[in-house]
Amino acid sequence: MPTEALHPDEALRLVLHAAPPPVLELVPLGEAQGRALSKALPALVDQPPFDKSAMDGFAHDPASPAELYRVVSAVAAGASSSRVLGPGECSRIMTGAPIPPGASAVQRVEWTEEAGKAADCAVLVRFLKPEGVSNVIRRGENLRAGEPLLSPRLLEPQDIGILAASGYGEVEVARRPLVGVVSTGDELCTPGTPLGPASIYDSNGPQLAAQARAAGCGARFYGAVRDEPGALEALLERALEECDVVLVSGGVSMGDFDYVPRALEALGVERVFHNLAMRPGKPTWFGRRGATAAFGLPGNPVSTFVNFEVLVRPHLAARMGLAHEPRVVRARLAAPLVRRGSDRVEFLPARLERAGAGEGAEQAARPLGYHGSSMLNVLAEADCLLRMELGRERIEEGSIVDARLLRA
Ligand code: AMP
Ligand code: MG
Repeated sequence: MPTEALHPDEALRLVLHAAPPPVLELVPLGEAQGRALSKALPALVDQPPFDKSAMDGFAHDPASPAELYRVVSAVAAGASSSRVLGPGECSRIMTGAPIPPGASAVQRVEWTEEAGKAADCAVLVRFLKPEGVSNVIRRGENLRAGEPLLSPRLLEPQDIGILAASGYGEVEVARRPLVGVVSTGDELCTPGTPLGPASIYDSNGPQLAAQARAAGCGARFYGAVRDEPGALEALLERALEECDVVLVSGGVSMGDFDYVPRALEALGVERVFHNLAMRPGKPTWFGRRGATAAFGLPGNPVSTFVNFEVLVRPHLAARMGLAHEPRVVRARLAAPLVRRGSDRVEFLPARLERAGAGEGAEQAARPLGYHGSSMLNVLAEADCLLRMELGRERIEEGSIVDARLLRA
């Protein structure tokens, strides 16, 4: 292998450094889901924008209580009343309606009864028990205009709601990087077609495209190409032309037919590293051609998945101007974490469990029976990756570890 094994933290630094700044664009709020918000945004309006009722009931002034109240007006949500309430008067009010002048509290309808009509036909109501609270949500009580609303993130449904509630009709987001995915290998067969005698289904291609989309990017899958330099170069050139980031799976190791590094370099992609002190993912290759980045990921399916998580996802986040730190929880090891050899940083799949009960309950991480990087199905049960540092062969049961979350 051409270079000395690089520590994955240094590799991460290099892939982040290779990310150009995001290109920003305005999109309508209805198209902003899953997009990377470009900057911290302030609230545009007070929330709520006026003093409003939290109940269906009767608005009144608790400073001048009465035996019977005359109902002199009615306010629905979306309406308002300018009738100032005097002593002994109340206004029928619906949830979400503005509190009429002269009132500062709402008696819920369930705690009232009608008590006939006054001489002028106004309905009379009696309050059955004291509320104790005002049932009024004050203007700006939840949030004031100008206060921080959202920081940069991939926008989730609740974020869309928060932006809408503040009146944002469009938001500035990072343009979606387009990620091209190329699978390599003579053995690969497209899912949904019959399997040949020495074939396996291409799982990396569909998976990498899905990982890129889940990370907020666009993805274009170029299919599987045979281990043949001409065909490989032609397809890679197309992908490099059309995409911001190209992910190639397979063909980066020491085998006779591992043409990917040579093909990328022949196309003018400058090698940044090849060969990491990391398991899985030792032969990972990374390079750049102008603002375009290319990752050569080892074909073993777990390697491909883990390398995307550890190196590609942070690179894509940086291209969208987002923080790249993984989401991590502290967990107690439910069984010892053991491995052979300690010359690489290793990422091992684990399942999160609840340990103990009641007050003593805590999060536990159970390492999954895992026999190498072709065991993709182990990821069906995995919630997180546990990291073992260089020089470490064992972590005892009961130790507290950082669990890097894999699922949203
Ligand atoms: P390679 O990195 O090309 O040497 O491949 C390593 C292992 O991963 C081999 O067993 C390949 O058959 C397998 N592999 C390579 N590409 C894929 C793929 N796209 N989907 C599933 N397995 C693959
Ligand atoms: Mg191969």
